Amino acid sequence: MDKDLLLKEVRALLGDAQVNTDPEALYDASADRYKKYAKARRVLDVPPPAAIVYPRSTEEVARLLSFCNEHGINVIPRAGKTSTEGGLENWKELTLVIDALHLDKILKIDEYNMQATVQAGVPLQKLEDALRERGYTTGHSPQSKPVAKFGGLVATRSIGQFSTLYGGIEDMVVGLECVFPNGQICRIKNVPRRSGGPDIRHIAIGNEGSLCYITEVTVKIYRYFPENNRFYGYLTKDLATGIQVLREVMVNGYRPSVARAYSEEDARQHFYHFHKGKCVLLFMAEGNRHIVDATCKGIEEAVAKFKDGILEQVSSELIENWFNHLNWSQQDIDDEFEGMKEKDSHDGFTTEVSADWETIPKLYDNVIRRIRSEFPRAHDLTLLGGHSSHSYINGTNMYFVYNYEINCAPEDEMRVYHHPIQRIIVEETLKLGGSMCHHHGIGKYRNEWTQQEHGSAYFMLKKLKEAFDPNGIMNFGAIFYQEEGAKFQK
Ligand SMILES: Cc1cc2nc3c(=O)[nH]c(=O)nc-3n(C[C@H](O)[C@H](O)[C@H](O)COP(=O)(O)OP(=O)(O)OC[C@H]3O[C@@H](n4cnc5c(N)ncnc54)[C@H](O)[C@@H]3O)c2cc1C
Repeated sequence: MDKDLLLKEVRALLGDAQVNTDPEALYDASADRYKKYAKARRVLDVPPPAAIVYPRSTEEVARLLSFCNEHGINVIPRAGKTSTEGGLENWKELTLVIDALHLDKILKIDEYNMQATVQAGVPLQKLEDALRERGYTTGHSPQSKPVAKFGGLVATRSIGQFSTLYGGIEDMVVGLECVFPNGQICRIKNVPRRSGGPDIRHIAIGNEGSLCYITEVTVKIYRYFPENNRFYGYLTKDLATGIQVLREVMVNGYRPSVARAYSEEDARQHFYHFHKGKCVLLFMAEGNRHIVDATCKGIEEAVAKFKDGILEQVSSELIENWFNHLNWSQQDIDDEFEGMKEKDSHDGFTTEVSADWETIPKLYDNVIRRIRSEFPRAHDLTLLGGHSSHSYINGTNMYFVYNYEINCAPEDEMRVYHHPIQRIIVEETLKLGGSMCHHHGIGKYRNEWTQQEHGSAYFMLKKLKEAFDPNGIMNFGAIFYQEEGAKFQK
């Protein structure tokens, strides 16, 4: 099938108004924030999709997928467009981007059963605002909350700033609806728990558009007690101290909503007004008053235990104020993109990994040492550091951050800067038994390591792809390495 025939057929399926072939919109749809610098400079090396389509119902999604499956058309599911790892990047000439724009309804807020059901195109902020009016919260708060939508949040296995209390999206989703390439619509019912075989929610959660299209999601909701929020901040002598305190709090069973430890350089960009060249440790406790009181006591005890590494306490207003300005609006994202048309630097490229408590400090040191000594453009780095922002009983994450001046052609930026740094981070993580991707997903630029990430269990992942997407039409290159896509990864 050629592009003209494809467009004709899709217009017949949906009608003209739901098919967008505007060249600017297609250019925008050809890549996500992974290649934002090349995109801003208009030197992208990937093809635009044939069209962006906007289904109005699950049935229309099913019709579109069946059609694409039958004719071998690549499909990229799209929601809020905040993807950071190339999940929305297009590597095929014949591609339809299926955008959840019109799947934008909050279907039910069920206060008695403490759950809410939304369509995939509902922005998280929209549900959160509706819940807050009634005294509830989703507990989900990624920095992209104002923009990201439920389809993408579930498909990337996202996590929010309050994860230590509420968990990641996988802990929140109680049921969902999704559509497979053959047009099969599946509704996973909303129950508190069941032992009805493997947990099939996880076939959709984290699939990054490579197995199915998520159309509807039901999440838990929580009582919201903002009046009980408490904040703590400290300067620490090193990152290892911060991580030790985080561990102490977690292993003693406390669940602050936020628990974070920053390296000196990363602290410099976030807390320039008070960090004094030191590392920063911070906490937030929230929820029911009695639980908050106990959590605060746990934090204070953990800090006291490691007092030799704690340099001073920071005013809680500074921490609270910082939190209130952390999220990115669409305007912030657009401003950053506009800025890249002029500015030759990257502020905040990241790679996020996870490992157990014992491994994380070692991993951090190995990575920083290798980048400083092996990365040929280390002299262009303006910041190199990281923070731990999501902790668990058995370990934590490390969010490596690196900013740099770009002294090369815009189209070479990823090859010259990001890829060599990312490679060091991934190699060190996998060598020490950690996970190379804590919450941004694999996208299309970590797929060369997917097999290594999963080891012998890759068998299971591969079988899912073969079973649910036998014709390989779902988001070509996402999660699964494709020889044909390798040219775009260079
Ligand atoms: C400023 C900023 C801050 C961020 N902060 C965080 C953070 O704190 N925590 C975090 O986890 N992430 C964060 N991210 C990453 C990003 O916001 C998340 O990955 C988010 O979940 C993506 O949601 P989205 O709606 O924008 O999805 P999109 O970008 O539209 O899509 C993301 C991926 O999901 C797939 N997808 C989209 N919709 C569907 C669907 N209906 N069915 C199946 N697959 C689908 C796409 O194909 C793509 O692979 C941040 C990003 C930015 C830009």
